[in-house]
Amino acid sequence: MIDRACISINNRCNLNCTYCHFHTSEKAEYLAEAEMNVFSILDNIKHHVDKYNIEVFKLGFVGNGEPLLDYEALHEYIEYISDYLSAGRIAAYTITNGTLITDEMLDFFKEHKVNVGFSIDGIPEIHNKLRCNTHSEVMHAIELYHSVNGCYPSMNCTVGRDALKTAEDTISFFEPFNSRITFSRMIGTDGISLDEFRCFLDKAKQKLNVRTGGYDCTMYGGMCGAGINNIFYANGNVYLCGNCVDLPPIAKADTPIDRIKPDIPEFDRNTCFKESQGL
Ligand code: SF4
Ligand code: SF4
Repeated sequence: MIDRACISINNRCNLNCTYCHFHTSEKAEYLAEAEMNVFSILDNIKHHVDKYNIEVFKLGFVGNGEPLLDYEALHEYIEYISDYLSAGRIAAYTITNGTLITDEMLDFFKEHKVNVGFSIDGIPEIHNKLRCNTHSEVMHAIELYHSVNGCYPSMNCTVGRDALKTAEDTISFFEPFNSRITFSRMIGTDGISLDEFRCFLDKAKQKLNVRTGGYDCTMYGGMCGAGINNIFYANGNVYLCGNCVDLPPIAKADTPIDRIKPDIPEFDRNTCFKESQGL
C-alpha cells in the first residue's frame, strides 16, 4: 500500500553542490520543466487517504531542486491540504539548503505542522567544499529555526570520501543539536560503497539519533522500498524514487494512487534496485 510520496515542485536550485546528482548532464535531459498539476496530485492523495483510511500519509515536498525557490506555490499547496495536516492524516515535510528561509516561512511551516529539514554536511571544511561555501548561512538559518521552534531541526548530511576521513568530527558536529540526523550516501564519481556507508552509520548511531531502517532507501541506511510503499512525482510523471527519474516513469502524475502498480523484478532489498539492475 502506498502511504508515502515525494513531490518535486520544481527542478531548479540556487546552489550547485559538487555531488548533486539531480543536475548532472545525464539527468538534466530528464528534468526539463514539464507542467505538473500539484493540486490534482494532492486531490489524489487526499482521496487515497480517505478511501483506505490511512492513518498517516507521509508527504515530502522534496525533489530535484530547492523548494523554497518556489515558496509561493509551496505555500498554496500546504494551505490546500491544511485540514489533513492539522488532523495528522498527512505528515508533510520539506528539506531546504537553508539559504532562502525566513522567519515568516518558519512561522507558516510551524502553524501547519510541516517539518523542515536542513541540508548540512557537518563541519565547515567539508560542507563549504561540497556545498558552495554556505556553511555559515545554513547555520544562521538553523539558529533562526531554533528561535522560532524552540528546538533544533532535523538535518541531512551527505556522506562521501571527506566525511569518511573525518568521521569522528562529522559525527561530533551534530551532537550538540540533539535532533534527528539523516545521513545519505554520496553516489556518483566521489561516491562511497554501501558497506563503507553502513560502517559510518554504525559509528554515528552510537552518538546520534540517526534515521535508518525499514523499507525506505539504501541511500539513507534502510532497505530499498522501490515499488512497495513510496512514489516520487516529478515532471508530470510518477517514478519509483527520486534517483530513478532517468528510468521510465511508472505512471502519469494524475493517475489515482491505487492504480499505480510498479512492475519490478525480485531483487535483494538490502541493495539499491537501480544499482542491482545495473541501471
Ligand atoms: S542544494 Fe540540493 S538540489 Fe541544490 S545543488 Fe545542492 S544538492 Fe542539488
Ligand atoms: S532504487 Fe535505490 S535510490 Fe531508489 S529507493 Fe531504492 S535504494 Fe533508494
